[in-house]
Amino acid sequence: MGVSNAIGVGNGLDALRLIFKAYLELGVMHEGDEVIVPANTYIASVLAITDNHLKPILVEPDINTYNLDITKIEKSITEKTKAIMVVHLYGQVCWNRGLERLAQEYNLKIIEDNAQAIGGEFKYKDGQIKRTGSLGDAAGFSFYPGKNLGALGDAGAVTTNDDDLSQVIRALGNYGSKQKYINEFQGLNSRLDEIQAAFLNVKLKYLDKETQRRREVAAFYLENIKNPEIILPEVNGKVEKCNTHVWHLFVIRTKYREEFKTYLAKCGVQSLIHYPIPPHKQKAYCQWNNLNFPITEKIHNEVLSLPIGPNMIADEVNSIIHIINEFSV
Ligand SMILES: *Cc1c(COP(=O)(O)O)cnc(C)c1O
Repeated sequence: MGVSNAIGVGNGLDALRLIFKAYLELGVMHEGDEVIVPANTYIASVLAITDNHLKPILVEPDINTYNLDITKIEKSITEKTKAIMVVHLYGQVCWNRGLERLAQEYNLKIIEDNAQAIGGEFKYKDGQIKRTGSLGDAAGFSFYPGKNLGALGDAGAVTTNDDDLSQVIRALGNYGSKQKYINEFQGLNSRLDEIQAAFLNVKLKYLDKETQRRREVAAFYLENIKNPEIILPEVNGKVEKCNTHVWHLFVIRTKYREEFKTYLAKCGVQSLIHYPIPPHKQKAYCQWNNLNFPITEKIHNEVLSLPIGPNMIADEVNSIIHIINEFSV
């Protein structure tokens, strides 16, 4: 990823939890501080914040890219804001220079939830290219089997260029210990399993090739799906034209989701909803159930993920496109 530290941990949620826990240990953040996070993320991003007694401040996404609307961040910043968590949702990089300037101006850490966008890139205007996981101050990765770089069981990692932060995270994931039987922090056990590490070591070599294949399938979908009831995912949207997509998921929107999903199933095409209920509508966060995030709620009511993966063959892609183009209400 082009960073100086990569720390193996037990899973993606732990990766994110440990980043905040380390910032608390370092005195960079304190309990009750606020962290800005997209309202439509997978719940793990939010759990990592509340687990550390920090306060998530939910901000609406952009309806077209499904990623955090960076233009809406500034009005949510208070004196208690210490960090912005960007989530490269569905595999699309969520980044721009404006975000970097905002973080600098308000002295905020940027934490990347990179569970879905391993291998993604941001291209600067001067030609410099940075990978997700090296854009912010620290990033959490998941190697859950269903992710783009999947182990055969749970696994995760943190990447950061901050050597002090890295040392604390390494210790926190190992009972708070840097030196055997000497415990500096109240840590936890979040080791990267060695068998999983061995699998990942082999699979990592194929990641870029697999991403390339995902991009080919996505490009083919984008070019050939033509149905007035189906809104295709938009790459770049309002963000600068520098964000790549690794297509962890290919997510469309439709007002007729139930009908469409049933129709696809009848035609033998599996589809999934990522995700049916946003964090603020979950029982786990009942204190937020009354909050209104219309864009987030619209997304949760309309999104559907089509099949995508590096092992799809042209015949499958063609037949799915044909089936989708025949759908009508
Ligand atoms: C999968 C995922 C996580 C959590 O990763 P686990 O390895 O399942 O703990 C966190 N954030 C996002 C956006 C994810 O998709």
